[in-house]
Amino acid sequence: MLIKTEGFVLKNKKYGETDSMLTIFTRKIGKINAIAKGARKPKSTFLAGIQPFCYSDFVFYKGKSSLYNLSQCDAREIFYCIREDLDALTYGAYLLELVEAVTNEGQTNNRLFNLLGKTLSMLANKDQKDFELQTVVRAFEVNLLAYSGFKPHVHSCVNCNQSNFKQIKFSHEEGGILCPKCFTVDPFASKISETTVRLANYLLNKDILEIQKLKVNEALNNELKLILKKYIMVHINKYQFKSLDMLDKL
Ligand SMILES: [Zn+2]
Repeated sequence: MLIKTEGFVLKNKKYGETDSMLTIFTRKIGKINAIAKGARKPKSTFLAGIQPFCYSDFVFYKGKSSLYNLSQCDAREIFYCIREDLDALTYGAYLLELVEAVTNEGQTNNRLFNLLGKTLSMLANKDQKDFELQTVVRAFEVNLLAYSGFKPHVHSCVNCNQSNFKQIKFSHEEGGILCPKCFTVDPFASKISETTVRLANYLLNKDILEIQKLKVNEALNNELKLILKKYIMVHINKYQFKSLDMLDKL
């Protein structure tokens, strides 16, 4: 059976003597693992399109085993510039790790697919555009959560649906903000400022390309960063990111 689809390479690992094992987020069949036979031989025709970040057209065939085999690959966009800038590389690798954590084989996710494409091309053109990398990463996180079924409920109290209150807490367990009357629902809820809630709503409702002009102060960004970090741990069950560990060590 032959399958033709476009996709983003999330991972590329050595496999056997000369092969590579790829993890690809495809448009048609979701996330898959595929063997690229002979991909590490110097003359392999696969070479250009199978590095992490590459956006390529792929043809796979599925043999008797559950694995896919790559039979053809044409790079559409290799996002080479991401590799040349340490910040873009680190955060780009983080986006790929997040996508890998929330996607499954056989489950397509077009909105996430498009979000990843737009965000990678923003990172690749970072030098020409004046946007805040951190804000783009927050926008990616919050929309990835929304597109994978974990949209944080931030437009009204997640428990009673009331809106318009000044004192706010964020409940990771309940998946959204709480009004003062509902604070007792989750004793572990964390304080969150009104402006951070507004920022989260804004990022959820705008296309990522539109937030390029947005300037967010660092304290605000940090508050949202910590809330989302914990939220990702609780709902996606992912506690460690190799990319971010690398950033801490720098
Ligand atoms: Zn409430």
